[in-house]
Amino acid sequence: MKHQLIRVLLPGPLRQHFDYLLDTQLDPVLNGDPLLSASQASIDDSAATPHQVKLIGLRVLAPFGRGKRTGIITALPDSTDCPPEKLKFAQLIDSQPAMTDSLQRLCLWAANYYHHPAGDVLFHALPILLRKGQPNQLPQTIHWQLTERGKKVSLNVVKRAKKQLEVMQQLHNLMQQEQPDSPVSQTIDEQLLRPAGQSRQPLLALEEKGWIESIERPAALDLPEEAPSSALTLSEEQQFAVDSINAKTQSEDKDKGHFAAFLLEGVTGSGKTEVYLQAIETVVAQGKQALVLVPEIGLTPQTLQRFRARFRQPVVVLHSGLTDTARLRAWQAASNGEAAVIIGTRSAIFTPMQSPGLIIVDEEHDNSYKQMEGFRYHARDLAVVRARMEKVPVVLGSATPALESLHNANTDRYQLLKLTHRASDAKEPTKILLDIRSCHLNAGLSPTMRDKIRRTLESNQQVLLFLNRRGFSPVLMCHDCGWLAQCPSCDAKMALHQNPHRLHCHHCDNQRRLPETCPDCKSENMVPVGLGTERLEQELAQTFDDWPVLRVDRDSTRKKGSLDKILQQINAGEPMILLGTQMLAKGHHFPKVTLVGILDVDGAFFSGDFRAGEKLAQLVTQVAGRAGRGELAGEVCLQSRQPEHPQLQGLLKQGYNSWAQQELELREQALLPPFSHMAMLRAEAINADSAKKILQPMADCLKQISSGSLMQMGPLAAPMEKRANRYRQQLLIQADDRRSLHQAMAILLNQPWLQPANSRYRWSIDIDPQDL
Ligand code: ADP
Ligand code: ZN
Ligand code: ZN
Repeated sequence: MKHQLIRVLLPGPLRQHFDYLLDTQLDPVLNGDPLLSASQASIDDSAATPHQVKLIGLRVLAPFGRGKRTGIITALPDSTDCPPEKLKFAQLIDSQPAMTDSLQRLCLWAANYYHHPAGDVLFHALPILLRKGQPNQLPQTIHWQLTERGKKVSLNVVKRAKKQLEVMQQLHNLMQQEQPDSPVSQTIDEQLLRPAGQSRQPLLALEEKGWIESIERPAALDLPEEAPSSALTLSEEQQFAVDSINAKTQSEDKDKGHFAAFLLEGVTGSGKTEVYLQAIETVVAQGKQALVLVPEIGLTPQTLQRFRARFRQPVVVLHSGLTDTARLRAWQAASNGEAAVIIGTRSAIFTPMQSPGLIIVDEEHDNSYKQMEGFRYHARDLAVVRARMEKVPVVLGSATPALESLHNANTDRYQLLKLTHRASDAKEPTKILLDIRSCHLNAGLSPTMRDKIRRTLESNQQVLLFLNRRGFSPVLMCHDCGWLAQCPSCDAKMALHQNPHRLHCHHCDNQRRLPETCPDCKSENMVPVGLGTERLEQELAQTFDDWPVLRVDRDSTRKKGSLDKILQQINAGEPMILLGTQMLAKGHHFPKVTLVGILDVDGAFFSGDFRAGEKLAQLVTQVAGRAGRGELAGEVCLQSRQPEHPQLQGLLKQGYNSWAQQELELREQALLPPFSHMAMLRAEAINADSAKKILQPMADCLKQISSGSLMQMGPLAAPMEKRANRYRQQLLIQADDRRSLHQAMAILLNQPWLQPANSRYRWSIDIDPQDL
């Protein structure tokens, strides 16, 4: 057959496939165009005949509208509805699929489950350069090697040219280590022979003499230089956890593991990471790969260092801070099996792996696993789906598991592994509630809290204060008439920031100068109301002027590397006060912190979102977990205006797990998730009415489809109705069983009158929404 019909998915909001033709006799990739020889070279010779090249999963360049787009072949249909005169030719970009089969299956599963256009999901999973149609080639760098003559030459002859001598020495050393049966010739990356800024001259001089020559090779991955750190002796509970996971990664059939989902519930500091490391060791020793997901904020060099220091094999990292090129390289290393361990944030769940062996989701309760815009997916949930598809175990670890995960453990869908004690000798901190209703606060601190801070600092230990509000103060007010600085684009107050001095809306990022006088009454008496981290920092520095105060929030860590610097300072161990937002709550290990103060825990238990209590309980427990992680005992003090609140009392007295089990009972009574299932349709427009008009027909349609089996709320104004000058409406749909919810959604999305979401007609669908 000369022309092959192909079915292609394109990125974007369109839900349908597009059919194209492929010219199997003229397509450059199939016919060895020298321009494409690099990617061609990766085809196994025996398979290089056109008909044997597997087309599904290959990227094509496809004419679309007036331009061309990158698409992915998903099927080879026998016939098409497209009229012959409209059928156009597409050109292959790849000779091998950019994605593994199983990854493609995961994407299509996710598209179906989250009701998101499949083309968009597939492209979401690709590194940006591949989305843009760049070749999927390993980047080449210049390497140098000795010529036959160069191998024989005595080093004495270049003794006087010092730089040349160094090069020759390095290459000769390599030659001496040469293993006779090593298929790779002994080369050194030019980068290593010519450190930054140094001239190429010595290399060129040696080349001129005919002693060395250059070749192009793929850049090598960095390997750890030091000997690996050794595994710790595990506690009984840790050992049981590792053994349980190993039992699934090792199996009689060497190539196949088994699916199993574990919930590793370990109190903060109980050594969950050590469990991950040792379970990964087993997998890596079998030549398989491990994928480790970490929350956005958890990906610190300290975390990385712990993984890098343990393995001899390459550990690659995928996160949003990488350049496109570096990201593609790490992705390729995962895909071709070079990388043994892949660590990444949310989107790393879409990393292809040649031989997957284990998936780990650290801090599985963390909100950053949920993508809140565009393709709205939950990476933790997809991790479990992927593990099932790849037939490997998945470990979800947390000190404060999500209620969904606890429920899955309660119902035996996940196997529960518990670590109930802190590792080594560290003890659980004591927790105290401070009633601040009738006391005078100074710098937001009650007298008791101030005393405790001073005593802690005087005994050369560190204090961590938690305040989840950045900026100087959350509100700017006119003292005379009560005017409040309101964001003109949102239903929200603008926060006052000191450095730089301005008003800042944390919802739409709108920033403006401070008014000099009150816009309403012209009074100059403008006062900041309330406490943010900037102000707390200032006031603490005055009150405790003998000790340094370090602030950690999004503003103080904006510059690249600044968080690391701060973390290093903290870990140097001098007495100091750390204060910060939830950036400080997660995952860090501060052995010198013995006092943790939570300045303000009120509010969240009364919010409208049914998950607010869960999130607060997690946050409080995580922040508290920073106390006393070294040899010194820790103490946690919570300031509250509602110290008798039963939820708060329960959490502190019985700990997170009992609290969560009770909360699950309440959810069951109220038929809330995980005992029911939700989807949220959201729309926004330049006025409330237009936004409602997008959702109303959807609501009516769903009512018809479901004939009462779905509960609907809305369309209603979203909690913050106006945001960034757009009015937002939402329609919440709830069902007792997942299937009827998904069936209804699928029928709705197939309605011919439904317009695809686009820049003017904005609506979105969110399955298992996390914020209501
Ligand atoms: P988690 O991830 O549960 O918060 P970590 O893995 O960070 O806990 O462990 C906390 C501390 O305890 C780390 O300093 C770690 O090196 C140490 N640790 C973990 N397991 C052991 C063990 N079996 N023996 C001694 N120290 C351990
Ligand atoms: Zn005024
Ligand atoms: Zn705003």
